[in-house]
Amino acid sequence: MNLQSKTTWLTVFLSISMVALVAMVSLFFFRQFSMETAQEHVRSVAEIVRVSLTESMINNVIRDRQQFMRRLTDIPGLLLVRVVRGPDVDKQFGAGLPTEQAADETEQQVLATGLSVFRVVGEKEKPTLRGTVAFIGRNEGEPNCLSCHQVVDGTVLGAVTVEVSLATLQQKAVGTIAVMMGIMALFGVIFTLLFRWQLSMIVRTARGVQKVVAHARDGDFSGRLEYHGTDEVGQIASDLNGLMSHLQRDLGGISRDIAQLLSYELQGNTNLLTTTTEMVEVLLEVAQFKQAVEEDHSVQDVYVRIGRVLTDQFWVEHFSIYEVKANSNHLRPMLVDGEINADCLWCTDQVLVRADACRAQRTGHIVHSFQDPFICPCFIQSEATEGMGHLCIPIIHSGLVGNVVQIVVKRDNGHLYQLLLSFIQVFLRESATTVEAKRLLDTLRESSLRDPLTTLHNRRFLEEYVVTLDSTTRRGKTLLSVLLLDLDHFKEVNDTWGHEAGDNVLKAFAKVLNAQVVRGSDMVIRFGGEEFLVILQGNDASFGVAMAERIRLAVENLRIPTNGVTLRRTVSIGVASFPDDGDNISEVIKRADLALYQAKEGGRNRVVLYKEEEIPPDAPVEG
Ligand code: GH3
Ligand code: MG
Ligand code: MG
Repeated sequence: MNLQSKTTWLTVFLSISMVALVAMVSLFFFRQFSMETAQEHVRSVAEIVRVSLTESMINNVIRDRQQFMRRLTDIPGLLLVRVVRGPDVDKQFGAGLPTEQAADETEQQVLATGLSVFRVVGEKEKPTLRGTVAFIGRNEGEPNCLSCHQVVDGTVLGAVTVEVSLATLQQKAVGTIAVMMGIMALFGVIFTLLFRWQLSMIVRTARGVQKVVAHARDGDFSGRLEYHGTDEVGQIASDLNGLMSHLQRDLGGISRDIAQLLSYELQGNTNLLTTTTEMVEVLLEVAQFKQAVEEDHSVQDVYVRIGRVLTDQFWVEHFSIYEVKANSNHLRPMLVDGEINADCLWCTDQVLVRADACRAQRTGHIVHSFQDPFICPCFIQSEATEGMGHLCIPIIHSGLVGNVVQIVVKRDNGHLYQLLLSFIQVFLRESATTVEAKRLLDTLRESSLRDPLTTLHNRRFLEEYVVTLDSTTRRGKTLLSVLLLDLDHFKEVNDTWGHEAGDNVLKAFAKVLNAQVVRGSDMVIRFGGEEFLVILQGNDASFGVAMAERIRLAVENLRIPTNGVTLRRTVSIGVASFPDDGDNISEVIKRADLALYQAKEGGRNRVVLYKEEEIPPDAPVEG
C-alpha cells in the first residue's frame, strides 16, 4: 500500500473513531442531563402541588383540589399528578378521596420512609420518569404545617406522584447529537480531502525523486522533477534538479574527455556512471601497462606483455603479433597464441614473404571479418577457423605500419570485440613508441653484430656469443662441431677481376653457407676476410665433417657470374669438435684452424678433421 492510501485510510479511521467517540460521550451526558432535568421538573410540580394544597387548606377550599389536580395534567409533558395521604392525615381528617390512597409499593415506601423515589417507566418509544416526592410536616416557616396537622415535626403527611414524558427531551438530544455528528463528519471529509491533496504533492514529488534516482543509478542524469513551489518539497525538487544538472554536465564532461583519451565512441544510451568507471579503470591499467612496457628489457618482452593483456583483460585466446620487416617487405610472427617465435598459424605463408599481402599492413586500417568473412584472403579458411573471425590492427611506427596485431575470436563475439576495439587500441598505441624504440635499438645492435657485405654475423657477435655458448655446452654437455672455412686462392679473384668481383664471390659463398646450414640452433659467422666459421650444435664431429663435405661440394659446383665472366672457387675446411678437441669454443676453433691449415697444405678444396696425433696443437697455423 502506498503512502497516500495509507494516510488516507488512517485519517478516515481517525475521523470515524472521533465521531463515534464524541457521539457516545454526548449520548451519555445528554441522558444524564435529561434525567436530572426531568427530576427537577417532577420536584417543581410536587412543590407547586404542595403549595396549592396548603393554600387551599388555609383558604378553606381544599374540597376543590380535585379540579386543580386535573388542570395540572393539561400541561404538555405532564402525564400524571396524584396526591396520596399519609396515615396521620387520614387519622386526623378522615380517608379523603379514593384516589388519594397509596396505590403501589413505591408510594407506600415513600410514605413510610419520607424519601423520594424516581424511576423510568413506560415503553422504550415513550420513556417516562415517574417520581414520588414525600410531603414532610415541619414545625417551621409560615404557614407552619403543624398549625393545622396534629403530628410531630418530621411526620410524612403525604406524597405526590408525578409522571413526566422523557420522549421530547430524548428526541432533542438525538437530534442535537445527529447534527453534531453530521458537522463533524463533514469536517472529517474536508480534512481528509485537504490532507490527501496536500499529501499528493509530496507523494508525487517522492515518486518523481524515485524515478530520477533510478535513472541516475542507470547512468542517465537527464531526469528532472516538475515542481515549482517554494516550500520544502519545492526545495527538494530544485536541489535534486540542480544535482542532476551538475552530474550530467560534469560527469558527462569527464566521460567525454576520458572517451577522447581512449578514442572511445560514447553511445547515446550509455550508462554514464559505469562507462566512466570502466574507462577510468582502463586508463589506470593502461598507465601501469605503459610503465611496465617502458621498463621491459626487450621488444620480445613487450610482445609477451601485450599478449597477456589480450588474454587476461580481453579474453582473447588466439592471436598473432607480427613484425613488419621494413627492408625486406615481409611479416614475421613474433608471438602466436602466447608462443614466442612460433609458426604463422592463422594466416597463409603469403604474408611471410610479401608483407603487403596482409590487408591491415597494406592499408594501415583495421581489418575485421565479422561482416565479410573473406575480407582478407590471407586469413586461413579451414576447419580450425570455422566460425572464427579475425580483427587485425596495424600499429603505426613513424608513419608506417610497424606491427600488425591479429585477434582471432568467434564470429559470434564480433560485436563485443568491435566495442572493445578502442580499449585494445589504447594499449597498442601506448606500447607503439616503446616497441619502435626497442626495435630500433635491436636493429642497431643487430647491425653492429653483422657483417654488412654478407649479412652474416661477424666476429664481434662471436665474441659475445661465445660466453653463452661456453656455459650452455658446459652445463648441458652439448656436442658441438666447428667448421672453419677459407676460400682457396681468393686473392687471385681480387687481383684478376677486381675487388668488386671478390665481394660478389664472398656474397655468393655466404648464400651457399646459409642454404646448407638451416637449423635455427646452427650458426654461420664471417670470421674475417674470406674465412668463415660454422658452429653446429648437438652433433659430433662426423656430422660436422659431412656438413663440411656438403659445403665443399656446393662451392665447387658454384658458378658466380660477375663482370661478364663466370667465376668458380673452391674452399678448404678444417673441422674440430667439442668436447673432444678442447674445453671451450676458443680452443676448438683453434683446433679447427689447425685442421684448415692441414687442408691447405694437403692441396686445398678438401675437408680435414682435426686429430691430435696427426696435427699437434703447436703446429704452425695458416695465415
Ligand atoms: P689461400 O688459398 O692460401 O687462402 O690463398 P688466398 O689468396 O685466399 O689467401 P690470402 O690470405 O693471401 O688472401 C686473402 C685475401 O682476401 C686478401 C684480401 O685482400 C682479401 N679480402 C679480405 N677481405 C676482403 C673483402 O671483404 N673483399 C674482397 N674483395 N677481398 C677481401
Ligand atoms: Mg685466408
Ligand atoms: Mg684463402
